[in-house]
Amino acid sequence: MRMIGPYDGERFVTERQLKNRLSSIVAYKDRMAERKPYEFESLLLGEALIDRHHAFKAVTVAPTRFGFVKNLDPDLHHHGRGKGRTMSVYFKSQWCIFSYHHIVSPLQGYTKKLFELKCRDRWQGRWQKEKKSSHMCVRCRNRLAADVDHIFPSHAQIRDVCWTALNDHFPDLKHQWWASHQDPLAGKARRWNDTHPLTVLYDQLTQQGSYQSLCKYCHRIETRNRAKDRTLDSLSLGASIKYLLGEVAQPETKAHTRLREDS
Ligand SMILES: [Zn+2]
Repeated sequence: MRMIGPYDGERFVTERQLKNRLSSIVAYKDRMAERKPYEFESLLLGEALIDRHHAFKAVTVAPTRFGFVKNLDPDLHHHGRGKGRTMSVYFKSQWCIFSYHHIVSPLQGYTKKLFELKCRDRWQGRWQKEKKSSHMCVRCRNRLAADVDHIFPSHAQIRDVCWTALNDHFPDLKHQWWASHQDPLAGKARRWNDTHPLTVLYDQLTQQGSYQSLCKYCHRIETRNRAKDRTLDSLSLGASIKYLLGEVAQPETKAHTRLREDS
């Protein structure tokens, strides 16, 4: 059987085993609760990082210093719940953000999932505060409103549209983003460019939407209920997407045809 590792002398039979081992080292909950220090050393994590993570393929000496580091850059705000702290590795005299889930399941290319994280960063860094309307959850009126919920279009719909636009109209940008993800020090190149047509599309769909402030609990319920109605929503969203794509890209392109077929 093909084993994973060895990392610091340990081998793993399955990705799940590796994941369990790494999450015990990373100890997210304990560190956020300050039961363990934010910073720590691990050779195992470092060796697994340079063996499997797409950004560290070219690195030959395993870094061993890790930590949940304060990260106040709104474009790279990965962990809303993590007190603004993000999993990072100390590499070439600076802290680089990474996800250990990409050690467990290595990426081979720019995936929709990566793009969805990018959208979440844009949303949290640029729009979430602006769309917040209430301190209390408007659904239960009982708990603090920690989240802003996209009523229409849903964030999933916005991501779908922008992902289609990225693939059909801006393949160069997709390659550029993937290249930046393969370089651990290229944080800035991973960002949204405020004036790029894709950013304009994302921002316009976001700006024109309707929102409500919800607690985490109600947000989960609303999102689940809405997923059932998604077909209906997509129909009414069609017209506005076609208009916006016409604004940012050539008319009558592949994306238009595909969106029409979808609706
Ligand atoms: Zn609520």
